[in-house]
Amino acid sequence: MLSNRHLIATSLVIGCGALLGACGPTNENQPAVVISGTTMGTYYRVSMVGLDKSREPELRQQIEAQLKEDDHELSTYKNDSVLSRFNQYQGTDPQPISNGMADAIITSLRIGHKTDNEMDITVGPLVNLWGFGPTKEPVKMPTQQQIDAARAEIGLQHLKVIQQVNGDFLQKDMPNMYVDLSTVGEGYATDHLARLVEGNGISNYLVSVGGAVVSRGHNPEGKPWQVAIQKPTDKENAVEAIVDLQGMGISTSGSYRNYYELDGKRLSHIIDPATGRPITHKLVSATVIAPTALEADGWDTGLMVLGTQKALALAEKEHLAVYLITKEPNGFKITMTPQFKAYLRKADKSR
Ligand code: FAD
Repeated sequence: MLSNRHLIATSLVIGCGALLGACGPTNENQPAVVISGTTMGTYYRVSMVGLDKSREPELRQQIEAQLKEDDHELSTYKNDSVLSRFNQYQGTDPQPISNGMADAIITSLRIGHKTDNEMDITVGPLVNLWGFGPTKEPVKMPTQQQIDAARAEIGLQHLKVIQQVNGDFLQKDMPNMYVDLSTVGEGYATDHLARLVEGNGISNYLVSVGGAVVSRGHNPEGKPWQVAIQKPTDKENAVEAIVDLQGMGISTSGSYRNYYELDGKRLSHIIDPATGRPITHKLVSATVIAPTALEADGWDTGLMVLGTQKALALAEKEHLAVYLITKEPNGFKITMTPQFKAYLRKADKSR
């Protein structure tokens, strides 16, 4: 049993400069201030053009406080987070949550229903059974009995958000329900950092948390920020395509970085709620561009579960900007919607 977990915490979508130096040399009179670090088991990076260097410590403090707050709300890796306390609560009374968290869950439920419940934030018991949450990887394949038992504890219909004048609440109708917001956490935090940077008067920036990115305005050279989509391999940091986000959010979900091997099988961290098992089809990467990084982050996982054909059909029906990479016998096949093409600046022609 090979259990080395390939969780490489670099993002699948690389903000300008992190991989390519796509922004090129920094222009003397407009150096970018870059603040980066770790959060949510991955990395964050904030590149700002026009921020006075002397304000860096103050911005770093604000950024780290915001990420700490997001982590405190959505983490299933901290026992005392708002979400962990909801999961530990063995009752069905409505529990108070922040308005931001309520909006993130409402968006996740909407995308969940549109993906035929394939993007399912109640999938936590299955994520943990397969060892992709805070629990350890299983030493042997979960039995069908264990899978069925975990599947009996999931379902979007058992979760609802209540928004009232006295606040927002989350309610489950199955006491032992376990919600996992890992699929939207990076997008949630990225949108918050983008708002924080704009609140500090900066309108030219690129922000990323893990595989989610938001950019606005121009880079240090005065050109639009460029964001690279990586080739679906954990062997190298090679570029598949480059996009100009024009102020939108982007996120990629892939099955080739966060996996482990058990009994000679490669098990991905993307779980199909319908089977209770990690996906096994050939769609290896789904990238979505949307008005917010949270929205992009929610769709990318749902599309990954659906597989290439169904993902493309749904993307066309919902007019989504989507870029899919499918593994084929002699390499990878790229499929994208017309909406995505509008953002494409360069594609790897070597295929
Ligand atoms: P995505 O494709 O965006 O999401 C996949 C994740 O969503 C899976 O890891 C699983 O958790 C869940 N998922 C799987 N299948 C489905 C499905 N069908 N529907 C819905 N969701 C599904 N990791 C650590 O190792 N250490 C930490 O301390 C840590 N802290 C975190 C704190 C927060 C607030 C959050 C949100 C996550 C944290 N993580 C941590 C988890 C880590 O960031 C995740 O691995 C990462 O968020 C997954 O993002 P992704 O882009 O790789 O995968």
